[in-house]
Order: sequence, then C-alpha cells, then structure tokens
Amino acid sequence: MIAARLHRYHDPLTVEQIAEPQITGPHDVIVRLGGAGLCRTDLHIQEGQWAEKSGVELPYVLGHENAGWVHEIGSAVSNVEVGDTVIVHPLVTCGLCRACRAGDDVHCENNLFPGISVDGGFAELLKTSARAVVKLDPSLHPKDIAALADAGLTAYHAVKKAVSILHPGTRAVVIGAGGLGHIGIQCLKAMTPAEIIVIDPSEQARALAGEIGADHTVGIDGKQVDTILEMTDGRGAEAIIDFVGEKGAIEDGVAMLRNAGSYYVIGYGENINVPTIDIISREINFIGNLVGSYNDLAELMTLTAQGKVTLHTSAYPLEAVNDAMADLDGGRLQGRGILVAEAA
Ligand SMILES: [Zn+2]
Ligand SMILES: [Zn+2]
Repeated sequence: MIAARLHRYHDPLTVEQIAEPQITGPHDVIVRLGGAGLCRTDLHIQEGQWAEKSGVELPYVLGHENAGWVHEIGSAVSNVEVGDTVIVHPLVTCGLCRACRAGDDVHCENNLFPGISVDGGFAELLKTSARAVVKLDPSLHPKDIAALADAGLTAYHAVKKAVSILHPGTRAVVIGAGGLGHIGIQCLKAMTPAEIIVIDPSEQARALAGEIGADHTVGIDGKQVDTILEMTDGRGAEAIIDFVGEKGAIEDGVAMLRNAGSYYVIGYGENINVPTIDIISREINFIGNLVGSYNDLAELMTLTAQGKVTLHTSAYPLEAVNDAMADLDGGRLQGRGILVAEAA
C-alpha cells in the first residue's frame, strides 16, 4: 500500500509502497482510510519534538486523525463489520486498566497511539482495535469528519467540562477561532445557553465565528480585556476556553476570568503565572484538556450527524503530504488539512 513515512527528523516525508498491516490479535480492526487530518503535532513530530516522548522507531507512518471504512476484523470483533463507516479514536486502549475502566481512554496505562508511537493513517490502511472505532451513519464521508477524531474531540472534551458551570445568563470567552476553536464555538452553541464571546486577531476567523454561533466577536487591539470586562458587568466571564496558550492569550484570559470562574487550557506553549493568593482569594480554577474519551467522540459524532458541528476542510492527495505540511506551516491552509489516499 501507499504510505507517507518519516525516515529522518527534519526531512520531508517519503511517499512509498510499504507492507499492509496484518490482523495479529482477536480485537484488531484494519480500517481503509477515507481521510486523515493533518495536525500541527505532525509538524512538531517532523521537527523531532516528540522523539523522546513517543520513543517511536523510524521510519514510521504519521497521521492520528483518522476515519474510513472497516477493511478487516479480528476473530473477536463484534461491534463493527467489514464495510462499516468509522471514525477512529486516536488511542488503542487495553480496556482492562483502571483508567480504561473509568472511561478515561486517554490515560490508558497500556496505550498505543497510531501516528505518534506506531504507524498511523497517512496511508491506505490503518491498524487499530475494536475499542477505538466509532461506527458512523454511512451518509457521513470520512474525509469530511476525520479531523474530529483529534482536533474536534479535544475541543468537545473541554466544552463538555465547561457545561456544568455555563448556566443561562453566564458567559464563555473563546480565545482563538482557528482549527480547534471553530469546533469549540459550535459545541458551546449546541450544548450550553451561555453567551459566547470570541477573541481572534483574524477578521476572517471572527466572521466565521459569527456565522457558527458566536454572540460577540472581539479583535486584538490592546483594549480587548477592557472590552470584554465591559461586556460582562466589569466582572469577567465564568468560563475562559483558551485554544491559544501563548502570545499574551493567558494574561488576557486570566484578566477576563470572573471570580470562581474556570480557565480551560487547550492551546499550549507558554506558562500560567498566577499568584497562589489570587487563586485562593478569587477561587479560580485552571483545567487541562487532552484529547477526549471514546464516549466524547461518539457524542461529538452525534452532534455532527445532527448538523450542529461542521468542519471546514481542505483536501490534499496523500502524495502531496509535504505540500500540505508546508501550507500548514506557512499559514496558507484554509480550515483543517485532510489527506486522502487513492485506493490502489
Ligand atoms: Zn492532532
Ligand atoms: Zn487501559
């Protein structure tokens, strides 16, 4: 099959013929890919930032946002059949450890992460497990929803945590309306009655935010904190959902957070520097978010099937993977990049 592999850090990927994955365990599922999302993490992998953390051996196939059709199943697989349309939860999990039994798939003690620690989805076929596949309505096309497997799932996971504090009359501030942010806005709209305020420097991103559910949008003009405090009775918002995590977003976000409010960290890069006396006297919370559970993904797919969440994408043939990565790196990619392997 055709696959795009990383042979050496800092080099472009090599599109080449490699052996097809084989069923080796009773719960294995092999998926014929209909689309694989390109993520900023793929750029970081190519740059070598994940080399030590993942311990992966080169060469290997990148791609951790995958959807397609079931191609082959192990002898014990009963939840999907060959031909089913599926989106693939990013982790292959054991189902037996404490985290798995609590439904916390991301922290499975025995996980594999295709596209990060083993071969992923920039290929015709991907090996995963029965526990990772979410069966979809056949009307959903994998290339339209593949990026929901990671980018969308992370946004959904954070918004779901915020739902418990976003009652009628509350406000949520979304920092960053890009790849993840535009999904977070749609999830907020679908799942909470909160007023949604979106901050983004790009006029185009703010226009999109307004179309998909933002009640107000604010640019970055040096007065954005004051503007938002004015919109929130001078007290700030109950929830700050930060998809940026650097370049001033954190300082702004903390200044816009209401007493007893919660700050959801999704974008990352810089540090949160808040005196502990402020954390206790204001009773403010900082909450980390990593991917999401299998159930989160299944719920997000329900919102998608209902038309409440749609993903803006640009498709590339798998052979053009290096062009797509250059476009992502250069800020020329509109929406989420999706790689599509043509069946041989
Ligand atoms: Zn990703
Ligand atoms: Zn486990």
